[in-house]
Amino acid sequence: MKTLFERSVAGRHCSILPECDVPVRTPEHTRTQPLHLPELSETDISRHYTELAKQTFGVNDGFYPLGSCTMKYNPKVNEQAASLEGFAEVHPLQDHVQGCLEVLATAEKYLCEITGMNAMTFQPAAGAHGELTGLMLIKRYHEKHGNTARTKIIVPDSAHGTNPASSAMCGFTVVNIPSAEDGCVDLDRLREACGEDTAGLMLTNPNTLGIFDKHIREITDIVHEAGGLCYYDGANLNAVMGIARPGDMGFDCIHLNLHKSFSTPHGGGGPGSGPVGCKSFLEAYLPGEKVVFENGEYRWQERGEESIGAVRGFHGNFLVVVKALTYLLTLGREGVPAVAENAVLNANYLKHLLEGTYDVTNKGVCMHEFVLTLEGMKKETGVSAMDIAKALQDYGMHPPTMYFPLNVHEALMVEPTETESKETLDAAAAAFLEIYEKAKADPEAMHHTPLHSPITRPDEVKAARHPVLRYRFDD
Ligand SMILES: *Cc1c(COP(=O)(O)O)cnc(C)c1O
Repeated sequence: MKTLFERSVAGRHCSILPECDVPVRTPEHTRTQPLHLPELSETDISRHYTELAKQTFGVNDGFYPLGSCTMKYNPKVNEQAASLEGFAEVHPLQDHVQGCLEVLATAEKYLCEITGMNAMTFQPAAGAHGELTGLMLIKRYHEKHGNTARTKIIVPDSAHGTNPASSAMCGFTVVNIPSAEDGCVDLDRLREACGEDTAGLMLTNPNTLGIFDKHIREITDIVHEAGGLCYYDGANLNAVMGIARPGDMGFDCIHLNLHKSFSTPHGGGGPGSGPVGCKSFLEAYLPGEKVVFENGEYRWQERGEESIGAVRGFHGNFLVVVKALTYLLTLGREGVPAVAENAVLNANYLKHLLEGTYDVTNKGVCMHEFVLTLEGMKKETGVSAMDIAKALQDYGMHPPTMYFPLNVHEALMVEPTETESKETLDAAAAAFLEIYEKAKADPEAMHHTPLHSPITRPDEVKAARHPVLRYRFDD
């Protein structure tokens, strides 16, 4: 496909500005060479961007089962609310606007209700940023209580990769503990890891294998008895929201990914929102300011000296919170648990259709996602998880997450989400099964898929290692 510069034709333009009717001033520092811009008609530009848009694949194009990431459908009404002038055109310094403060206060109330927490900050811009913020609360708590020897965070191996990374970034030492056979936390290993130096535990639940830990209450008790605090990675809340509350499971703080569970599209890198909720005893340490309602009006209140300070400018990505609140208001009290139920039902339905053929790591019922391992297939035929993922693209599907979680070889992690219909799931299963047959019959052909996409097998690391960030003109 040609770039706009390559489409450029000298003298062509689409300017709709009237002729200048005032004297043109030429101050001394104006450029002497004309600016190098492509010369194009409006039709050229419109077709160029439409062609580009057609070459990508999003949740509006088809099935997008991206596990552990909840790339779910974002209802259009959320966008409509977020583009209302009163929200979209407000300057961050106009922070007394009542409607905006009410959005933050209401979202805090609902999300605290859903998570079982007492207070929340909307400053963090993403999940990993929320993790760092939550860990800073834990660190501050121990410092305030004179427990400076508590320097270790326990992270089970079924956690998301950001958990150990955030712990290390916050200055903690990471203690990794292996999972038990069933994919849950190994309680004996947890007990062994707990001690006088334990600052806390970070748990992803349901974990990256799509398993809700059956010992959840015992886990938080063990950590609390050792004097540590419990952090809940809430990125997988889609599976449990409205049904089980991390606060009731004994967790002290949590981050949510509004751009995952609460439906903001996040392909392409943002904007996101990773609010951090906590129990009352940690509230004073939260960053930013707090919205309060007094004498019939909303206003900001300083959190005071104990606060960890600001983790971001102003009040976070406000419009993402508008979308999340719109989503919650449209779902209502009955709709929130229905999301979780349908997400779990859809995952189990698809898993059931595939498990007679593919090797599924989750025995029994899964939560919102399940993991396939192509290890056997690779040994037998040379066809890898990558080959299967690529082949799915020829069926109009986005590939699932590949090679994650790290503790499963040749992994494909599938998360259908709640908005997919039975017909879509049936079609996806049919594609998976047909690909399986093809892989057995002609393994060599599988290494050349996909056959119908603009590009087939790009170098996976080249863009990161040798980024080309600007266009170079020939002349
Ligand atoms: C996505 C994810 C994160 C990180 O969230 P970001 O918003 O991408 O920073 C953390 N934990 C889990 C389980 C996730 O799925």
